[in-house]
Amino acid sequence: SKTVKSDIEIAQSAVLKPISKIADQLGLDESSWEPYGRYKAKVSVNILSKMNGKADGKVILVTSINPTPAGEGKSTVTVGLGQALNKIGKRTVIALREPSLGPTMGMKGGAAGGGYAQVVPMEDINLHFTGDFHAITTAHNALSAFLDNHIHQGNALNIDARRIVWKRVLDLNDRALRHVIVGLGGRTNSVPREDGFDITVASEIMAILCLSEDIEDLKKRLSRMLIAYTYEGAPVFVRDLKVEGALTLLLKDAIHPNLVQTLENTPAFVHGGPFANIAHGCNSVLATKIGAKLGDYLITEAGFGADLGAEKFLDITTRAGHIDPSAVVIVATIRALKMHGGLTKDELKHEDLDALARGMENLACHIDTIKSFGLPYVVAINHFIFDTDREVAYVTDWCAANGHPVALSKVWEQGGEGGKELAQLVVETIEKEENHFKPLYELNDSVEDKIKAVVTKVYGGKDVDYSPKARKQLKSIKQNGWDQFPICIAKTQYSLSDNPKLLGRPKDFTIHVRELKASVGAGFIVVMTGNVLTMPGLPKQPAALNMDIDKDGNVVGLF
Ligand code: ADP
Repeated sequence: SKTVKSDIEIAQSAVLKPISKIADQLGLDESSWEPYGRYKAKVSVNILSKMNGKADGKVILVTSINPTPAGEGKSTVTVGLGQALNKIGKRTVIALREPSLGPTMGMKGGAAGGGYAQVVPMEDINLHFTGDFHAITTAHNALSAFLDNHIHQGNALNIDARRIVWKRVLDLNDRALRHVIVGLGGRTNSVPREDGFDITVASEIMAILCLSEDIEDLKKRLSRMLIAYTYEGAPVFVRDLKVEGALTLLLKDAIHPNLVQTLENTPAFVHGGPFANIAHGCNSVLATKIGAKLGDYLITEAGFGADLGAEKFLDITTRAGHIDPSAVVIVATIRALKMHGGLTKDELKHEDLDALARGMENLACHIDTIKSFGLPYVVAINHFIFDTDREVAYVTDWCAANGHPVALSKVWEQGGEGGKELAQLVVETIEKEENHFKPLYELNDSVEDKIKAVVTKVYGGKDVDYSPKARKQLKSIKQNGWDQFPICIAKTQYSLSDNPKLLGRPKDFTIHVRELKASVGAGFIVVMTGNVLTMPGLPKQPAALNMDIDKDGNVVGLF
C-alpha cells in the first residue's frame, strides 16, 4: 500500500499562488487589502460599507456530531467543500478560525484542515500567523496593567481587589499560571492580590473581536467589559478606566480579516478563534460577512459538535453579525458513530455494523437540532481509508430511509475532487429546500427559559438544576439588566449531556449549572456546567517534542 503523507508534507509540496493573485480572483482593488509577506494578506473591513449594495452569497455552516478525542474533520470538510464548490464552478470563499499556539504545542493535530484539504501556509497559520493573537494578548494584559495601576495610584474607583474578574492571558498551555499572586515586593510594586492566567482564546477580547461589526462596535463592546466590583458591590467597566480607546488602538490591525488560500488556491479567510465552551467558537463575523460579499458561497465552521458550535453560531453569531445562514453541513465519521454505539477507541478500525447502527441516534439528534432551527441540511460522511464499503452503505441507506440528504466526502484523500458529490448536493439542497431559519429562543425570554430551551430542544435533556451560587448569580444578572443577552453554555463536547461518558443519545438527563458569568462586552451569558478549564495544561508527551527547524529553515514535525 502507498504510504500516507503527513499534513505538513502535503502542505510543503503545494504550489501556492502569490496572495495578490488570490486578491485579484476575489476582485479586490489594491486599496482594500495589504500584503503580509508573499502568501498572506489583510483585507480591510472598510470594504464592507463599499459593497453595501451587493447581494450576499449563501452562508453555509459546517458542524458535526459529538466528536471523539481525535476530532471529526470539520475543518477538513470545510476546506474540502470550498475547494469542491470551486471545482463545480461556484465562486466560493472559506472562513475558518485561527489556531491557538497552546494546543498546537500540546496535542497532535493542527487546525488548518488535513490531507488534501488544507489552508496554507500551514506553518504560519499554526504558529504566529499575522500576529492577531499577540495583539489580543497585549490588549488584554494592557487592561490588567491599567487596572493594577489604578489601584496602586490611589484606587479612586474604590475597586475591591478581591473582586477583580479580569485575569491575565497568554497563548500557551501553562497550568502553572492558573493561580498566581501579583504585586509582591513592597509598596513600590503595586498592591498584592490573587490573579490568574487564561489562554488567549478564552479572553473576552477574542470573543469581542469575533463578534464586532466594525471598529466602532469593537470599541463599544470593549468599553462595556466588566472587570471588577467596588467595595459597595457596584460593577466596574472598562469605560470607568477610560481605556477603551487605547485597547481598540492595540487591535487596529487584528480586526482586519486574514486572507490565505487552500492547497487548490481557493480563497480562505482565517480570522479569530474564540473557545467553543466559554465563548461562541466561530471565526470573526467580519471574515464571514466579507467572504459572503466576495463569493457566491461562504463556508464557515463552528467548534465542537452541533449541540455547542452550531447552536451558538445560530443563536449568538448570526444575531451579532446579522448573518443569514442558508444551510448546514453535518459531518459524521464512521468511527465516531461506532464510538457512540459503544466501541472503545481501540476497536474502531474493525467493521462493526451493530455498533454503527446503535450509534446513528447521535447523528439523528443533531439532525433534529438543525431542523428545529428551520434550516436545510446535508449529512457529510468524512471518509477514512479503513471505513468498509458495507459501513458506508449502512450510513447512506439509513439517511435515505429517513429522508436525510447525504454524501460521502473524500476530500482528505483527494481534495476538491473528492467533495464534488457533496458540493452538488449542498447546492441542490439550498435551491430546493425551504429555509425557515429562526433562532431557538427570543432574547427577552428569561435566562432560565433560554437555558431550558437549549437543554430540551438541542441536548434532548429533561431538566436543569442550579447550584446555590448559580442562583445568586442569576439574580445579579437580572438586577444588572444583562438577562437580555443570548446564552453561551460551556459543556463537555463529547456528550449531549454534561457527562462526557454518556455517548449516543442519552435521555431524561438533567443539566447541572454550576456557575454563570456575564460577558457583557461580548454580549452573552456564559453558563458553566461541570469544571471548565480556561487555561489548559500540556500532556506528558507534548507535540512540541516532534517539532524542529533544519539549517535551511524548513519546518518539521508540525503535524
Ligand atoms: P475538527 O475540525 O473536527 O477538529 P480537523 O478537520 O481539524 O477536525 O481534523 C482533525 C485531524 O484529523 C486532522 O489531523 C486531520 O488531518 C485528520 N483527518 C480529518 N479527516 C480525515 C480523514 N478522512 N482521514 C484521515 N484523517 C483525517
